[in-house]
Amino acid sequence: MIEDKNQQRTQLSDLGEFGLIDHLTGNFKITQSSTIKGIGDDAAVLEFKNKQIVVSTDLLVEGVHFDLSYMPLKHLGYKAVVVNLSDVYAMNAKATQITVSIAVSNRFPLEALEDLYAGIETAARIYNIDVVGGDTTSSNKGLLISVTAVGEVDSGDVVYRNGAKPNDLLVVTGDLGGAYMGLQVLEREKEVFKVNPNNQPDLDLYSYIIERQLKPEARKDIVKLLADLEVKPTAMIDISDGLSSEIMHICTQSKVGCDLYEEKIPLDPQVISTCEEFNVDSTTVALNGGEDYELLFTISQDDYPKIKANPNFSVIGHIKEASAGLHLVTRADARIPIKAQGWKNFNA
Ligand code: ADP
Ligand code: MG
Repeated sequence: MIEDKNQQRTQLSDLGEFGLIDHLTGNFKITQSSTIKGIGDDAAVLEFKNKQIVVSTDLLVEGVHFDLSYMPLKHLGYKAVVVNLSDVYAMNAKATQITVSIAVSNRFPLEALEDLYAGIETAARIYNIDVVGGDTTSSNKGLLISVTAVGEVDSGDVVYRNGAKPNDLLVVTGDLGGAYMGLQVLEREKEVFKVNPNNQPDLDLYSYIIERQLKPEARKDIVKLLADLEVKPTAMIDISDGLSSEIMHICTQSKVGCDLYEEKIPLDPQVISTCEEFNVDSTTVALNGGEDYELLFTISQDDYPKIKANPNFSVIGHIKEASAGLHLVTRADARIPIKAQGWKNFNA
């Protein structure tokens, strides 16, 4: 699908490395006052006054983290930025700068990298961050993209994974399982396309979940909303690997247990209907699916009145003593231990 779209194919070697970097990043604008020097020197120069700085990196590998047969490069560029910003927001920080490093094989023409950088630029504009550097190199096979995000936070405001206390409420933003079910739909259509390339899939029924997979958003809005509501979570993490593994991270690092209520897990109607169609359990999908990039956090019970009327938040459980363990309380009132998932990429 990618191949048809890029009619024009300019060889990367025609530009040379410096020409390429300039071509891709020449129109990037600097908007943050903390960016003293962006792209173009040996290093970027940043200056933050009276702030703590958070730094987070992700590496995305073709064939492991993305499949270009259904992931448009523009979306990939956008997603690569967003997943990093999500980690910054999970620290309760404001994202300010990113660096972007790519390794590309000569299979990719300039036009493909232009698409990738159009997505990066769109994300930078929407999330109001500066692209201040990166590295460009060749790979023998496929595409690698690594993004490093920098953010700032007032010293007292940073939120770690390890601050949850017994009786705190467990809260999640948005809804879960959409990105995973979107991936299932895309994988199915890919198989159909292999058999009959003329078959144009009708994906209207799945528009929300496909968007959750291909063009996720990070919850910048939640960091602001929590500040406006004067709520400081006791612990926070973003949901990249699925609810169960993120809950385990918070509970392990905070040395606590928890009860999670199945009936409280927020699901979009499209997730529910697609789970029925694929004959999979929607709770399992929310627990183990991943890539939703929502925020999971804990708050003191005293803060409950501040969040309870807000449709962005679902209270899905509460924190207990470590000795109580971690459990899913099912609709039938059964108590099922929450198990580790994650590390999906290493299970063949
Ligand atoms: P060096 O040889 O010192 O590594 P480069 O020539 O790789 O420097 O980079 C020149 C400038 O362009 C630097 O500011 C670097 O951060 C930036 N840069 C390089 N590659 C990219 C990229 N893919 N995206 C954004 N900025 C980049
Ligand atoms: Mg370099």
